[in-house]
Amino acid sequence: LGGGRVANSTKRLAPKEHVIAPPNTTFGELGVDDWLTDTLKSMQIKLPTEIQRACIPPILAGKDVIGGAKTGSGKTAAFALPMLQKLSEDPYGVFGLVLTPTRELAFQIAEQFRVLGKNIGLKECVVVGGLDMMKQSLELARRPHIIIATPGRLRDHIRSSSGAVNLSRVKFLVMDEADRLLSPTFAPDLGHILPHLPKNRQTLLFTATMTESILALRDAEEDEKKKPFVHMCS
Ligand code: ADP
Ligand code: MG
Repeated sequence: LGGGRVANSTKRLAPKEHVIAPPNTTFGELGVDDWLTDTLKSMQIKLPTEIQRACIPPILAGKDVIGGAKTGSGKTAAFALPMLQKLSEDPYGVFGLVLTPTRELAFQIAEQFRVLGKNIGLKECVVVGGLDMMKQSLELARRPHIIIATPGRLRDHIRSSSGAVNLSRVKFLVMDEADRLLSPTFAPDLGHILPHLPKNRQTLLFTATMTESILALRDAEEDEKKKPFVHMCS
């Protein structure tokens, strides 16, 4: 039995065939819309980083993606750009949920969404510990497009709120710093949150290091959806 499991997971670990667009490929050539490339230009961002070249096309194509790249390589925009592009086409309900292990990361991610999404009137909402629950509930009731949350506080809202957090229309689940999120610390919180998301969502896992628990989550989702993840590393 054990042997079978090992063999299976070894097979799945084999890199899937994928192509990364060459350096100097533009955001436009990756499929990013003009309104976003214009915003990027105004931020002095001209060319995509390697992890962005690797991940933006499969995310736009609807794939579940694991993106591995070291800190500072631009992983946030690698998921935020394709999410914003899809959101601009279909802005209904809470569109994206981004989970991250710390408040600081949540605020940083929210800031990138805010800047990149300024042309489409993006409503983002940060849900983290240490902020007033009532204020957050009111913000959640205003139906943000993107929720950026630490797991503990989001769980509190799901438990306490009378329908303020409706995750039933989420199209994208992002686990940023997935290695840390999928550590035992957050397991009980994630166990409460994930069942509230629709099964047909796109799942994006971003991490600096690959761990067994990331691969376990991938295996569980692949089995359920009968659809493979794309692995992209830079
Ligand atoms: P990571 O999550 O991989 O640690 P971040 O997404 O936080 O990295 O990005 C690190 C920094 O790089 C941010 O300040 C971000 O604005 C910047 N950045 C992102 N994409 C690009 C790019 N294509 N060109 C230049 N800078 C970028
Ligand atoms: Mg990051």
